[in-house]
Amino acid sequence: MFQLNSAELQSSQSNLKLEIPMNDNPYYSRTDTSKLSVTDEQWKKVLPEDVYYIARKKGTERAFTGKFWDFEGIGTYYCAVCGNKLFKSDSKFASSCGWPSFFETDRPGSVIYADDTSHGMFRTEVMCGRCDSHLGHVFDDGPPPTGRRYCMNSIVLDFEPDK
Ligand code: FE
Repeated sequence: MFQLNSAELQSSQSNLKLEIPMNDNPYYSRTDTSKLSVTDEQWKKVLPEDVYYIARKKGTERAFTGKFWDFEGIGTYYCAVCGNKLFKSDSKFASSCGWPSFFETDRPGSVIYADDTSHGMFRTEVMCGRCDSHLGHVFDDGPPPTGRRYCMNSIVLDFEPDK
């Protein structure tokens, strides 16, 4: 019952590898979905400066500069701050906006929302459902079946290709 064949063993080993905290970030986990309560001061100690600026200071990377806006890999996108599963590549679509765009999240609790009235606009901000980090915005001009466009900053996403 507890014997693993070699393929399963390999896959359990590679799953273990994923759990090594990235950048010495002790809050990062792809399996622990419990809500985090971490101050910006604490985040600043463990996040790269550019990730911290977007995720915790609600910055926006310049269009057409991020690593994922025209990326077509098959796999899963996680929050680069905490490891929370956010999107599958089959919900990603080619958008002309210059940021990686998805029409739906991995599950209802993947992200949370807030009204954003900054810069003279009314927008809906999208934040990570586990760590509350700023990810981007969602708009109603996306493709079927949802009509939604989750417009994300590449730098707050981690991509893991399907095996
Ligand atoms: Fe997160």
